[in-house]
Amino acid sequence: MPQVSLCFTGHIEGELGLGPLQGTDSRWQRPDQERSDQATFSQRREANAPMAEKTRAATMDKITALCKRRGFVFPGSEIYGGLANTWDYGPLGVELKNAIKQLWWKTFVQRRRDMVGLDGGILMHPRVWEASGHVVNFNDPLVDCKTCKSRFRADHLIEEKLGIHAEGKTPDEMTALLREANLPCPKCGNRTLTDARQFNMMFSTTIGPVEESGTKVYLRPETAQAMFVQYKNILNTGRVKLPFGIGQIGKAFRNEITPGNFIFRDIEFEQMEIEYFARPEETADLFDAWIDAMWNWVDLIGLRRENVHVREHAKEELSHYSSRTIDFEYLFPEPMNWKELYGLASRTDFDLARHQEYSGEDLTYFDQPTGQRFLPHVIEPTFGVDRTFLVLLLDAYDEEETVDVNGKPDTRIVLRLHPRVAPYKAAILPLMKKPELAAVAHELFDRIEAETSYLVDYDETANIGKRYRRQDEIGTPFCITVDYDTLEDRAVTIRDRDTTSQQRVAIDEVVNFLREHVG
Ligand SMILES: [Zn+2]
Repeated sequence: MPQVSLCFTGHIEGELGLGPLQGTDSRWQRPDQERSDQATFSQRREANAPMAEKTRAATMDKITALCKRRGFVFPGSEIYGGLANTWDYGPLGVELKNAIKQLWWKTFVQRRRDMVGLDGGILMHPRVWEASGHVVNFNDPLVDCKTCKSRFRADHLIEEKLGIHAEGKTPDEMTALLREANLPCPKCGNRTLTDARQFNMMFSTTIGPVEESGTKVYLRPETAQAMFVQYKNILNTGRVKLPFGIGQIGKAFRNEITPGNFIFRDIEFEQMEIEYFARPEETADLFDAWIDAMWNWVDLIGLRRENVHVREHAKEELSHYSSRTIDFEYLFPEPMNWKELYGLASRTDFDLARHQEYSGEDLTYFDQPTGQRFLPHVIEPTFGVDRTFLVLLLDAYDEEETVDVNGKPDTRIVLRLHPRVAPYKAAILPLMKKPELAAVAHELFDRIEAETSYLVDYDETANIGKRYRRQDEIGTPFCITVDYDTLEDRAVTIRDRDTTSQQRVAIDEVVNFLREHVG
């Protein structure tokens, strides 16, 4: 583990531990001596890539192509022709994903005295989904085309083709609208669309050797429910007191009919969720504290604040039990624009009350200071791993006009990822593939591996320029070159990804350099 000094220290004020996470950026300083001021990562990135003055380089197509080219994300089952809307995370993708998850777990579970963790199962008792409302309510209204067998969201058709707001309409109401309009199939043009009917988005499977006598179960459509279902066990074993939260990271599955936009909406995805239990009268203030905590996370992973905003749900958008819900939205490239990145909902005692009713277990909390017994209220911050992954790449992607070694115009693609989340923190590049250089380079590689938790790449193929470009494209903040001078002066050249400036650093100082700049 690296020295963890992301500063909660001094900011965990009061008993809630919800103070702002400060100083998250100050550790990322310019490596070159002339510019060694305390510029933050964002300021520094702005200086290198003034986004206001040029159009945004990232498009979804470029990111999808880069992900495949460099081994971040591959289309699922590709040698069999693929399986629509499934993806596999490659060697670099799994490292970036792990970096996100580890940072989230440290930030929201390990570094807070008011949080504990859970790793619940994907399969749960079928009654869980009755209590949660998913069996009845987790539906998409669908129509099929009898001619070409295509399937469409009824509400989307009504909104797009008829310009009528369809949210909240029943399948019967949608059917009436569709029959009246007698719409052609958007795919084949025949007027052979079926009536609208509800389609449950949970994947089901069977426990037991034969389908007929087995138990029908669902792959969880969200991780949240395990935290409600295990709330009582955690109360009984964890010595937790209100307010406290349970955090969980895990896979969830939704049989989406209209997934898409690369990994933005997947049928299989990973969530990082928190259920935060509190006294009813505390929840309004705690909700505000969670907004701050989520903004701190946005800063921590290095997203540009101008690409993130908070959208408050209007009264008519709120679930009947929710007192307040907001979305953190991200500005995706055209035509997506602002779309949900994270969510924060105040869920009152809805979930615990439902599970108490359906399970028959007493889920009340006994408050010693007041002698009262009640159901805690819940605040739910939700983060998607895959969506975080996607916006980190979109936010970091940049193209720089430059010239190649022959003086010809060239484009340098660079992922300006925050070093904290970059898959590789550094790459060790012997100038040439020679045993005497490799010996020193291996020694340095082993030393960084032994003294830090940083993942370091090692590459002695191709010319040095090509190797730099590869590292730029995968977001490696520092390239460490071992050359013939190294054998004399025991120093290496460290190249900065964002500025391409280079400096000479003694081998004995490389670990310290990385600790200082990566954080
Ligand atoms: Zn059709």
